[in-house]
Amino acid sequence: MKRQGSETSTAERRLRARICQLVERAAMIKGSLSVRATVCGKPSCRCARGEKHRSVCLVAYDRGGIRQQHVPHARVKEVKGWIAIWWEVTELLEQLSRRQWRSLKSR
Ligand SMILES: [Zn+2]
Repeated sequence: MKRQGSETSTAERRLRARICQLVERAAMIKGSLSVRATVCGKPSCRCARGEKHRSVCLVAYDRGGIRQQHVPHARVKEVKGWIAIWWEVTELLEQLSRRQWRSLKSR
């Protein structure tokens, strides 16, 4: 894609390549993990004696509402990875936008 009147610098090409690579190949998800301590209600359970169950939930603001999803313990690490990729792509897009702001100012 060619943009009018601007030379794409090496740094910007690298930035765009990294974004493309991540978007093409990596799983990503917007949200954050929230750890909750819950009580199941069974009187004989350890949670009734104060040792609460820990459950992990993925939470995100989506279309004006809050979206939540339980994450099984076995998948927490994987989901953390997806969240990290989401933030990396978001940060790279921010950098691209900053460059564009600067280019607008310098013309
Ligand atoms: Zn319990």
